[in-house]
Amino acid sequence: MTNVPEMFGSMVFNDAVMQERLPKETYRSLHKTMETGNELDINVANAVAAAMKDWAVEKGATHFTHWFQPMTGRTAEKHDSFISPQPDGRAIMEFSGKELIKGEPDASSFPSGGLRATFEARGYTAWDPTSFAFVKDGVLCIPTAFCSYGGEALDKKTPLLRSMEEINTQAMRILRLFGNKDVKHVWTTVGAEQEYFLIDRKLRDRRRDLIFCGRTLFGASAPKGQEMDDHYFGAIKPRISAFMKELNEELWKLGVYARTEHNEAAPAQHELAPIYTTTNLACDQNQVTMEIMKNVAAKHGMVCLLHEKPFEGVNGSGKHNNWSISTDTGVNLLEPGKSPHENAQFLLFLAAMIKGIDEYQEIMRACVASAGNDHRLGGAEAPPAIVSVFVGDDLAEVLSCIEEGKPYKGDRSGRMEIGVSVLPSIPKDSTDRNRTSPFAFTGNKFEYRSVGSSQSIAGANTVLNTIMAEELGQFADELEKAKKGDFNKVLNDLIKRTIKEHKRIIFNGDGYSEVWEEEARRRGLANLKTTVDALPAFLMEKNIKLFADHGIYTEKEMRSRYAILLDTYNKIINIEAHTMIDMTRKEILPAVSRYNGELTQTLESKMAAADRLGTDIAHNMEEETLATLSELCDRAMTEVVMLETLAAKTDFSDDLERGTYYRDRVIPAMNALRATCDNMESLTARRFWPFPQYGDLLFHI
Ligand code: ADP
Ligand code: MG
Repeated sequence: MTNVPEMFGSMVFNDAVMQERLPKETYRSLHKTMETGNELDINVANAVAAAMKDWAVEKGATHFTHWFQPMTGRTAEKHDSFISPQPDGRAIMEFSGKELIKGEPDASSFPSGGLRATFEARGYTAWDPTSFAFVKDGVLCIPTAFCSYGGEALDKKTPLLRSMEEINTQAMRILRLFGNKDVKHVWTTVGAEQEYFLIDRKLRDRRRDLIFCGRTLFGASAPKGQEMDDHYFGAIKPRISAFMKELNEELWKLGVYARTEHNEAAPAQHELAPIYTTTNLACDQNQVTMEIMKNVAAKHGMVCLLHEKPFEGVNGSGKHNNWSISTDTGVNLLEPGKSPHENAQFLLFLAAMIKGIDEYQEIMRACVASAGNDHRLGGAEAPPAIVSVFVGDDLAEVLSCIEEGKPYKGDRSGRMEIGVSVLPSIPKDSTDRNRTSPFAFTGNKFEYRSVGSSQSIAGANTVLNTIMAEELGQFADELEKAKKGDFNKVLNDLIKRTIKEHKRIIFNGDGYSEVWEEEARRRGLANLKTTVDALPAFLMEKNIKLFADHGIYTEKEMRSRYAILLDTYNKIINIEAHTMIDMTRKEILPAVSRYNGELTQTLESKMAAADRLGTDIAHNMEEETLATLSELCDRAMTEVVMLETLAAKTDFSDDLERGTYYRDRVIPAMNALRATCDNMESLTARRFWPFPQYGDLLFHI
């Protein structure tokens, strides 16, 4: 039997361990630094480093690394040994405060989007004491932020930490206005549900598209897909449950509260839901989760696919980023309260979110844009590319009563008035029915469902934190001016006006339908279908101003994110196009040609026999199949030559032109080639097909 409480967090240098192992004075100053964000005294750093090293060595660590989250969306680590040679030939294990708080990795192999001049290749990593260090594979991992020498963020964590500070500042102003004196700190919390596919390793190894691109670029549908709805919450197969058991244990050791696991709607698709924690920890934990998923899958002879759309025709994968705001006194600020006073505060936070999403819908879409995620957003799959907010019918009714100053049904106290009326209880479950909304209020939190399964959640949460900070700041400005005694009236007017001005972003219907696209257009909402449409949001004046005003991204940093994301999109499409060309020329066409050869031979002997016997045949299998396949083969040849020609173009004036060209010319050519090849796949004898098919990949385990 595994002892979960004993195992849980056993590889994490968490608060309990710090309290136990650090001298009292050191622990206290460290905490103070964590709260104020000030620089750590070198003596304190030395003491923490020594305790951390002793602890890590006991856990089997021999090396340490500054663990950081560069713009690749993955994590990076460079291992250094604790071993320090001694003059007498022996070695001791050493780790200094300096090594703990600062590292200087070579930044030149990480994307910087123009931030790092070539003569200044070095960047530095700085310890983030608000995230816990942990031991993974014999290495002490120290979560760090990664910056250029000029101080610009080269990673995903730095802006996220800045946004955590900013929302704290602005939310505290609001709480003080509501007379709250106890709360000292506000932070956002996140629980990121992670979807993934598991497939057999040996099968994966025979498909170059999965190896190079993480998704299938070809594949005719299997006779069975997800139409029977027999996978979702279905019984978990032994091989999968062995994987899940080990995954849970590995994550528990690292302090990740993996709580629920179940099969998803698509065959071979699963989901892991963690228990929520503060946003920067949730972000670290999600990165760790993705890494451990891959490692554990490998141990079980499987491959974990985190791509947003590994298979055509079955659901893709996303991350449901559940987001809320909490106080250090344990109050969830998005929880509707029981008293009129609490409700007034709740409605103010709700209104701020609605306003923020409406005003910054383009950057909400841009922060989840990627080549992979384009297959979900803007593809034939929920959630749609149009950003809207789902609040559910009950809450929508409340908001409309506030806007119109009407009584709420069943409320005998008269008009729905903020600070006076009690909200109806809003059952959590009734709010979560709508699975098509990109951004849904689910009772006491918002669920941002557009995040891609392979993406870091840092970008999306940086945006959420910042737009919320902006709106709360604006509200605080207005409310702070209210004269004593007028507060409720000013508050009422503010919320009423906000609802009136921003209700166009609220949508409770089917986000999947064409009717909504029509309706959204009438409402003037953005519909940024592809990454190329979405990324220019990083350069919009209002967005640059927003992030600069709050000190989250400088304009330079915004431009660098734009450049990196666009470049990544272009590289991905380019690799996909070349992988398709390679597979078509070297595998698919030769295979179909071989089958055609066999058909030709059989046909000849058959025709000779038929002549002799004088039989009449209704359908000549060989003749018909051969005719169709020959024609398709030639068409595929034409299409692959076309794709080669298109993919060879390199003279673009900039990356946006290149991306636009990929979107408008290369991707359609890829789609055409795929359609022809999939058609051939469905007509070719199985033993001739050169790689595993959908039926094998999806139903093998
Ligand atoms: P369900 O979606 O099945 O109703 P929950 O609502 O409990 O389950 O949780 C879904 C996800 O939302 C979980 O990952 C959970 O940790 C997270 N979550 C719950 N409450 C919060 C919160 N206040 N802040 C952030 N995430 C939360
Ligand atoms: Mg969910």
